[in-house]
Amino acid sequence: MAKISINLATGAFQQEEIIVGIDLGTTNSLVAFINPEKNPQVINDTGKGLLVPSVVHFNAKGDALVGNEAKDFLITDPANTIFSVKRLLGRSYKDVANHQDTFSYKIIDDEGDSLVKIKAGDRFYTPIELSGEILKELKARAEHALKTPVNRAVITVPAYFNDSQRQATRDAGKLAGLDVLRIVNEPTAASLAYGIGLDPAQQKTIAVYDLGGGTFDVSILSIQNGIFEVLSTNGNTFLGGDDFDRAIVYYWIAKNKLNKEELSADLSLMQSLRLKAEEAKKALSSQNLFNEKLGDIWCTLDMQTFEELVKDKVAETITSCKNALKDAKLSVEEIDEVILVGGSTRTPYVKQQVESFFGRKPHDQINPDEVVALGAAIQADILAGNRSDILLLDVTPLSLGIETMGGLMDVIVPRNAKVPTKAGRQYTTSLDGQVNMKISVFQGERDLVSENRKLAEFDLKGIPAMPAGLPKVDINFLLNADGILTVQAIELRSGVKQEIDITPSYGLTDDTVERMLIDSITHAKSDVEQRMLIEARGEGEQLVYTAERFIDKHSEFLNETEISETRNYVDALKAALTATVKDEILKKADELNEFTRPFAERVMDVAVSSAMKGKSIDK
Ligand code: AMP
Repeated sequence: MAKISINLATGAFQQEEIIVGIDLGTTNSLVAFINPEKNPQVINDTGKGLLVPSVVHFNAKGDALVGNEAKDFLITDPANTIFSVKRLLGRSYKDVANHQDTFSYKIIDDEGDSLVKIKAGDRFYTPIELSGEILKELKARAEHALKTPVNRAVITVPAYFNDSQRQATRDAGKLAGLDVLRIVNEPTAASLAYGIGLDPAQQKTIAVYDLGGGTFDVSILSIQNGIFEVLSTNGNTFLGGDDFDRAIVYYWIAKNKLNKEELSADLSLMQSLRLKAEEAKKALSSQNLFNEKLGDIWCTLDMQTFEELVKDKVAETITSCKNALKDAKLSVEEIDEVILVGGSTRTPYVKQQVESFFGRKPHDQINPDEVVALGAAIQADILAGNRSDILLLDVTPLSLGIETMGGLMDVIVPRNAKVPTKAGRQYTTSLDGQVNMKISVFQGERDLVSENRKLAEFDLKGIPAMPAGLPKVDINFLLNADGILTVQAIELRSGVKQEIDITPSYGLTDDTVERMLIDSITHAKSDVEQRMLIEARGEGEQLVYTAERFIDKHSEFLNETEISETRNYVDALKAALTATVKDEILKKADELNEFTRPFAERVMDVAVSSAMKGKSIDK
């Protein structure tokens, strides 16, 4: 029987536990719910405001502080204060290497494709753990304000997030003790907030223009029968309102004939100027002139000058809109609605440019900072079954995936995905000359396959022998409307292929599904921790393998001390691998990396110069 709970904040009876909607943003995050009047509302925890800055600070003891309090440490303790972690979620160092200088904290460089880690104090954190801290704070605020436990959530992500970034967001939710019912695209949430897509009979094509503090994206969506399909996305993850502020600061520096070098060294004055610039920019959203002083510096800005300063940046966003339309193979006339998201869309010039490009007035009635969280709350309400007017589609009750390194479950079709569905991912080999690959298909929500339900297993045979990491194996899952799952594995370089049909629902009762879901919630935190330990071990083992092979192959480039020192680092890493402390493994792996990096460069240099002489150093 369903339980009835009472909302202590309002005294109202609740049929269902509250499911919140969370906008986990690059700069700010917020959480919303559907209030007893059935309207979406952003949660305002007493005196703490609506927006929670997405900033995490660690003190000397390693305790985390999140939000406004953490933001204060951006200036006093930048090395241990992490902002913009969303940019790092599900990313490898290779992905972010070009932007390393925009982060004031240390991102661990272990060269390769593995996911980035961040160092604060003497601990290593994954972006998942850091986002988990932000989500924990949001959960706590929601619980405090609503005076009821909050265990389930819908979290939004940009439409351009890939599988790995979505999985990372899910994991962050789990770490925070949240059952993440669904990951929803931010433009989809924004559209729901405006009521677009709620009527299944409605058919629309919409553009969502999202200009925040540091990122810009535009998405073109097609909505049909209550299904949101992303037709295209475009944007620039390093363009936003911060660029407007910077342009104003440089303008004032020039106007006041200030010495740029001297100023750049004075961090606190630069920071004050930046804040003043933001104030001016915001003021110009409702007035024509800003005129103030900061010490002896005249901070004057009129509308026309401001527009001149930001013109190129705004033009860049319009070019992105053009490209998005082109990719969606649509003309401007085919767009039925335009929605504005993000604080920077309050700038009248931005609104005008968007309106003039699309030839229609964009929706701007809802606060652009809140619109995504409000839409997420509506999506949560739909999932809770509180909206009988909305058609719920057939969905898979449990996630489907395959076993990867260390017995981990890699989800390919997430729980609640609508059926029919198709999804796939690329894998590779971990050993040199590996010619077979075992593919084990599982169903369930736990991070370890041993806790999930095994559906099938088959071998992809006849992969041509290649060095580890070179073969490209595509694994595709196709779940048809009758619930039959076809798993296909294909090695792209050779065309070797294998396929199998499975009925995932066979022998699965509602009770089993429920038990599996409950288990996944009770074990969420330990599961994610275990997964991170296994991943760290996998990386560590790979590093030992590479380092040992390197010593064997290239010993002539190293002197005896270097070889024995490397062996010591390898042994230390091996010892750490037998323990169960993730941080220790990461620390030893980092030390080995640091020590051996110059050797790799040395070999490269020799390789290049020998190649130029027409010789090869390959043994
Ligand atoms: P978001 O990332 O969506 O929270 O947007 C934050 C950006 O919106 C920052 O660059 C703010 O300076 C900017 N912003 C906030 N309020 C206004 C306003 N009234 N006019 C112009 N920009 C604003």
